[in-house]
Formats: sequence, C-alpha cells, structure tokens
Amino acid sequence: MKHFFSPLLFAGLVFLSACKKETKASPVETEVNNHKHWSYEGETSPEHWIEIEKDSDCDGQRQSPINIIDINTTAVDSAKTLNVLYSPETILNKVENNGHSVQFDFDAGDSIVYKNETYHLKQIHFHEPSEHNINGVKYPIEIHLVHQSISKKLSVISILCTEGQESQLFEFLESYLPIGINEFKEINKVVNLADLFPEDKSFYSYSGSLTTPPCTENVNWIVYKQPIIISLEEVLNLKKNMPLNNYRNEQDLNERKVYLNY
Ligand SMILES: [Zn+2]
Repeated sequence: MKHFFSPLLFAGLVFLSACKKETKASPVETEVNNHKHWSYEGETSPEHWIEIEKDSDCDGQRQSPINIIDINTTAVDSAKTLNVLYSPETILNKVENNGHSVQFDFDAGDSIVYKNETYHLKQIHFHEPSEHNINGVKYPIEIHLVHQSISKKLSVISILCTEGQESQLFEFLESYLPIGINEFKEINKVVNLADLFPEDKSFYSYSGSLTTPPCTENVNWIVYKQPIIISLEEVLNLKKNMPLNNYRNEQDLNERKVYLNY
C-alpha cells in the first residue's frame, strides 16, 4: 500500500507547487505582462517599435523593407548565388494565427543554398499589402519564406502577389482559414511549394533585417522580381485573417547595395 500511495502524494505535491508558481508572478513576469506589445496601429505601430522594444535593432541602419529601384541595382549572375532545393514531399505541419500574420509551419525538407550556406525553410507568412516596393509600387500581398541555417543565420525569400486568376496552392492553404488569433490547426499534409515561385527566376538581393521586432539585422533578402498571380478572393480571404495593413514602411537604404540576380 505504501508503494501505491507515495507516487500519488508526490504527484499531488508537484501539482500544487505548479499551481502556486502560476498564480504568483515574479517581477520579470510582471514586467512582461505590463509590457506593451507591438502592433501595426496607434501607439504601438511601427514608428513606435523602438520605444517599445528598446534593445531591438528597429532603429538600425540596415533595416527592411526597402523600395527597390531597378536603375539603382547592380546586375550579377544568379547561378553563383542561389540554389532552391525544395522537395515535392515536404510536410506542411500546421497553420497558426500569431496576431500579426497567418503563418504556415513546415517540417524539415525544403532548403536553399545561398552563397554556399544551407538554410532550411521554417515557416511562411503573409503581409497585406506588400512591405517591399518595386520602383515605388506596392503589391496586394507579399509572402515571406523564412529560412534558417544551422548557425541561426536567416535568409528570407519574398514573393510578391498581384491579382488575376486564382492560385491552386492558395486555395489549398486558405482551406484551413478562418483561424482566430492565437489559434492553430494541425495540417500534416504534403505540399509542393515550387508552385509558389514565379516563372522568371530573377531576383533582387540585399542585406536587411526582420521586418518585425526585434528587427534583427544581417538577414539575407531574396526578393523575386516577377510577382505571382492570385485571385482577388484569395487576397480578401487572407486579409480577413490578419491585422489591417500588417506591413512596415520602407526603410532608408543608407550605404547598402541592391543586386539584381539574373
Ligand atoms: Zn514577414
């Protein structure tokens, strides 16, 4: 009998101490709870991010997004820079609404080699309208495909969307919407992201940052020059599930160069 009751008693104590921990917040937890969270509007909009996230890079000199102006780019040979190694067998794990965007998370499988370093696809998410402008033009949707290397370096592929005929891939992705803030849905289905890329594989590249706090710099940006086509309904469906205007304004280029990779 003694052996039967002891584990129960132990589990009870663990449970009680866990409850106690949750109700009594430490000064650090209180600080976090009182901390204003960044957003895309009002007092917590992008202009205020550096006041909210004081230790972030949001006031840095190498920030994203930017306005890419064709005549100011330097032409280079893309064959030496980027190799997209996406597999038609990659598993789309889940979709989540983090309150800033709709995000699809992937299992390991898709990767890119950028400047001789391998980066693995982690997640894709959306901005409405686009964050990057091309020759001053904003697009209805921008997709960010976030890749990370073993040493935690980041490369983000940006694909711009224009309106026209519907996209089968968007139809599939959006079949998991609507999704409420802080909700997620398991998907666990094979998806071929090759369909997400435009026919013309030329792209712009530059060194920038995350476009959301902490605005971390030294992110490799790969922005495809040709937009893909999705339908107006597909744009509106995404828009309904994200904060209005979830984009950051263009940032100064400063001393940076933008390359056009053919
Ligand atoms: Zn993004």
